[in-house]
Formats: sequence, C-alpha cells, structure tokens
Amino acid sequence: MLDTLPEDFDSVLLVMAHPDDPEYGSAAAVARWLAEGKRVGYVLASRGEAGIAGLPPADSARIREAEQRAACAAIGVEHLVFLDEPDGSIMYTRELRTAIAEEIRRFRPEVVMVLNFHETFGGRHPNSADHRHVGLAALDAVSDAGNEWIVPGERYQGVKYILEFAGEPTHVVDVDGHVDAAVTSLMAHERYLQALSDAPVEEQARAQIERATAVEGFDTPHIAVRLYG
Ligand SMILES: [Zn+2]
Repeated sequence: MLDTLPEDFDSVLLVMAHPDDPEYGSAAAVARWLAEGKRVGYVLASRGEAGIAGLPPADSARIREAEQRAACAAIGVEHLVFLDEPDGSIMYTRELRTAIAEEIRRFRPEVVMVLNFHETFGGRHPNSADHRHVGLAALDAVSDAGNEWIVPGERYQGVKYILEFAGEPTHVVDVDGHVDAAVTSLMAHERYLQALSDAPVEEQARAQIERATAVEGFDTPHIAVRLYG
C-alpha cells in the first residue's frame, strides 16, 4: 500500500510538455489543492501544435492554446505559461532548463509536479520524447533555480518536493470528490479529443480520469505519484 503524500506545502507548479498533459490525471489533485486554498500554476513547454492529425500546426497551436486556457478556467488555475518549444521535437537543452528555472523563481512553488519522464508509460507503452525531456529538464531546473552561478538571477531554494505523476509511484493523493472537476477540465480539450476517437468527449474524458484515479489497494479515487525530495 502506498503512503499518503505529506501535504505540508501551499503552492504547486506543474511543468509539462503539452496542453492536456495536466488534465490526464494530475488535475484531479490540482482541484483538491485549489479547494484547500493552495496556489497552483502550469508551465507548458509547447502549444501542442503537432497533436491533431490533419490540422496544420499554426491552426492547431491556436486551438490547443485556447482549449488549455479553457481547461485552466474550468478548474480555477489562473497562472498559465507557454514556453516556445516545438511540439514533438522538444530536446533536453540548457535553454529549456534555464527557461524552467526562471519560471520556478517567478512562481516560487513549494512543489514542482512533472509527468512521467521515463522510457515507458507503465508496462510496454513507450513514453514520448517530449515527456522524457521536459520532465528530466524540470527535475534539473529545480536545482538550477537555487544557484545564481548556473542561472543568473536571485536564488530560489524553496522547492520541498518534486512529484512525478504515474510511472513508479511511491505515494498517493486522495482526490475523492474532485473527479468531476478533473473530467470537466479534460473535456475542455474538445477538438483534440474529437480527433482521437469517435466516442463522445465526455465519455472519453470520464474514462481517462477514472483510469488515472484508480489505484490498486484504494476503493476511492486517488492519484499515484513518485515523490522526490
Ligand atoms: Zn503530452
């Protein structure tokens, strides 16, 4: 049985690769944290412009940015930043680490939350290069933010924990009562979900959030995270 995540923090910054990455499960915890009065912000490395088959990147970027803003509004996240990384071709670079470190210094979170950045997404499913590169860069950027000789500027060393959603979990967050908010937030990615499947958007969103909040050994909705720090 996984331990319950300590909740001795008041602010969380999610750093992920694409629009919709926060909504695929983490948002259930975000809804709970917002309800408790914690500050939550999102930094997304790209606008997901390569994410919709048949829709050219310029059009897709515009639609997906708007859908991300709607997903944030649905759940009550006001701080949303897009870095200008190329969807599908994000590399682990010094520039990416620096950009994330600067966002950490600006938001001053006690927790940084990333998406699984390992080779697989559980089982045999390969994880995307963007997820691997952005997650690892964010892990390293937490240290960078604390050192003005690596990233010029004022040190920020206030990050207590780094959380990685899914992957090989060590802890759980109880999200009972926050599943509907997470479903509503994911449903905002309407055009994206319509391109993925013919199933109605709400049905797709609910199935995904139910999968993401089903943790072995727990009868009520939880999300599983790996805790660093
Ligand atoms: Zn993604």
